[in-house]
Amino acid sequence: MSVQLDDRWQLRAACRGPNQVIFFPPSQLERRSDKRRREQRAKEICSTCSVQTDCLGYALDIREQHGIWGGSTENERRERLNASNN
Ligand code: SF4
Repeated sequence: MSVQLDDRWQLRAACRGPNQVIFFPPSQLERRSDKRRREQRAKEICSTCSVQTDCLGYALDIREQHGIWGGSTENERRERLNASNN
């Protein structure tokens, strides 16, 4: 595992600011349809983000288990890591 120590890319993150809340599940129960919509909105922001590659690489490196990072859900990152370990 090579954890990225240079995290200056985060300063250019498109998710900084009020939109940040849609990148993580709410503290209360979330319906599946609401989760899908929230994740889709977050992914749309990621698709415009200039640091998407850095972000995804970081999330994979640290095995981030929550939220949308680099345009991927936690399940998508887990599947990717599992596939790379096989
Ligand atoms: S790729 Fe998405 S989660 Fe990552 S910094 Fe950009 S907007 Fe935020």
